Amino acid sequence: MNIHEYQAKQLFADFGVATPKGWAARSTADFDTALANFPEDSAVVVKSQIHAGGRGKGVFTNGYKGGVHVAKTKAEARDVAAAMFGNTLVTKQTGADGRVVQALYFETASSIAKEYYLAILLDRSTARPVVIASTEGGMSIEEVAEKTPEKIVKIHVDPALGLQDYQKRTLGFALGFKGGLLKQFTKFVAGLYNLFWEKDCSMVEVNPLAVTADERLIALDAKVGFDENALFRHPEIVALRDINEEDPKEVEASKHGLSYIALDGNIACLVNGAGLAMSTMDIIKHYGGNPANFLDVGGSASKEAVAAAFNIILSDKNVRGILVNIFGGIMDCDVIAQGIVGAARETGLQLPLVVRLEGNNAAAGKETLAAAALSLVSGDSMADAAQKIVKLVA
Ligand code: ADP
Ligand code: MG
Repeated sequence: MNIHEYQAKQLFADFGVATPKGWAARSTADFDTALANFPEDSAVVVKSQIHAGGRGKGVFTNGYKGGVHVAKTKAEARDVAAAMFGNTLVTKQTGADGRVVQALYFETASSIAKEYYLAILLDRSTARPVVIASTEGGMSIEEVAEKTPEKIVKIHVDPALGLQDYQKRTLGFALGFKGGLLKQFTKFVAGLYNLFWEKDCSMVEVNPLAVTADERLIALDAKVGFDENALFRHPEIVALRDINEEDPKEVEASKHGLSYIALDGNIACLVNGAGLAMSTMDIIKHYGGNPANFLDVGGSASKEAVAAAFNIILSDKNVRGILVNIFGGIMDCDVIAQGIVGAARETGLQLPLVVRLEGNNAAAGKETLAAAALSLVSGDSMADAAQKIVKLVA
């Protein structure tokens, strides 16, 4: 789960990580309330709040350039805010459709002497948190990794010990900090690590981390993601969720306990079990097709949940065919069949449908499908089913 920059900066502040002062507005009526916090002649940074990076270099579909703008006066800030709010911002990370800006953040402008990069992620290969730092801040870290990998420092943290003092100093030295800045940095990275650890984050990223003209270290951007499996421990984090920023199909799926992730292909898959769902996507690719989604209905879905799953995959306008691949263990194949029949009738399904049912109560499931006289093709094996749907969609 992701949150907005302004929410992430509030968490930073809670953990003693320095951020500029700022005020969010979630409607045009809030602009003046937020701006009232700034002195009359002060510069104001106006920042579009969307769950995607690259806002500074983004472009609005109405032609307005830049999702982050330093306004010289409050009056200018008001105009900039009006140009951004309610409009669609396209950045490198949003895809061509962009995102509608439904919140703005008004922030105190810092005079930047230099920009750095700092992040903490979970490194799955070592099963440890890793702190990543670079003197090349402000730009995309992927680009730095590609062109000048020697400018990226990584430190792995033993989760039982936490981030050690010598590690904080090693990172600070690598960034070239001395004296007062080094002291500020060790406090900064310690606070960031505590946040990462205590809130079960999957990542915390500060890009840029800035040193100001008056030698203060401050987080100018803040991106925080959370491990969804740990959200039950953090109701205060769940409260920060912004449904507007999520794919409506994924939101609907989560209501029914389904794991659904939208992809950009045209063959929808309905599968039980995450491993089988992954290999179903692989085999579709193998035979030259493109999966439209990942969908795991779980091991004990009801026929209502299966019907809901069917409706969700059909609501994707790119879908040209459906592959149902079920290996019934705990899952009863007949429940799947009843769910499919119900949903296919309800939606007047016209698309090609290939069904492969194996395992628990498969015979009854096949009978249910046959009795419903749907126009579907049955697959004898995974390979057979995948080849059939790829051919039908082509
Ligand atoms: P994004 O990464 O989505 O483009 P950022 O928050 O990093 O958004 O902002 C883009 C750039 O705008 C930053 O790299 C920084 O140079 C500048 N910027 C952002 N916030 C401030 C601020 N409070 N004061 C001065 N400059 C800022
Ligand atoms: Mg940034």
